[in-house]
Amino acid sequence: MAVKGLGEYDDGNIFARILRGELPAKRVYEDHWALAFHDIAPQAPVHVLIIPKGRFISLADFAARGSEAEIAGFWRAVGKVAHDLQLEAPGYRILANMGEDAGQEVPHFHVHLFGGRPLGRMLSKPA
Ligand code: AMP
Repeated sequence: MAVKGLGEYDDGNIFARILRGELPAKRVYEDHWALAFHDIAPQAPVHVLIIPKGRFISLADFAARGSEAEIAGFWRAVGKVAHDLQLEAPGYRILANMGEDAGQEVPHFHVHLFGGRPLGRMLSKPA
């Protein structure tokens, strides 16, 4: 079932294919709920993507349809990846793009984790 306004989940999206093992990824963490792998075009010394294993397009979709176990498991994995990459002390940023204004390219909900250098302001100026 789709969430109103979001359309149907596309099983052909890149992250779905990575989850099925059809495309390679530099995996850094995996458990029952989540997979983390290095972004193919890193924008910081550490740039990891963390995705839930379920078929969710966006945070709204995940929040509406994800089970409590899926949601808790996913966010625990985000925290664990940041911890295991030893980013707590220097600091890091998580970011998730949703929809057109944010420039979401891959329609499978994901969190970017950036670290390894001072990250500057939160948002770039509008184009
Ligand atoms: P977003 O704009 O938030 O949808 O981000 C999608 C991200 O996926 C971008 O940072 C891309 O560099 C990254 N990406 C696209 N294809 C791959 C891939 N095959 N493996 C790893 N990261 C990818």
